Amino acid sequence: MERTRTEAERNLKEGGFLDVAHWKKDDAFQNALKKISTVMYDFEYNKRQPYCKNCAVKAVKQEIARLNENVIKKMENKESSVNLEFNIDYDKFGGADKFEKVNETEIVEDKLLDGMRQSTITGKYKNYICKTCSSHIDMEFKNSELDTEKIKSGKIPIQ
Ligand SMILES: [Zn+2]
Repeated sequence: MERTRTEAERNLKEGGFLDVAHWKKDDAFQNALKKISTVMYDFEYNKRQPYCKNCAVKAVKQEIARLNENVIKKMENKESSVNLEFNIDYDKFGGADKFEKVNETEIVEDKLLDGMRQSTITGKYKNYICKTCSSHIDMEFKNSELDTEKIKSGKIPIQ
């Protein structure tokens, strides 16, 4: 059933100051996960750089624990307003410099060439390991994209 959102719920989505009675850890966590997804998508699909979701989620959990302690303290002191702003720079968990690039693995697919099925290299995975938590991130690059990169960097002359 649909119900109208309360002012407190809207405020929580935007972060910032809020009545302590409306603080919900689970909602804050869900909102943060959505934010992580958006930033991660931007890194992986727009910037084509790896992003460590593990590190981002860990930072969010620590931040929520910190805010939750604040809320409990405020309630004990009978204060009604608390700053629930997330002090997290989500961008810092992304970018090739945050990872060791271990190797590249060729992507081999069966393709029909002149009526014959042949194994063809269609691209490669770039394999990254997070310098902070050692998570493995593999990013898939098609040959067409890799060629565009080479043209841009001057490794292949434009025809
Ligand atoms: Zn990590």
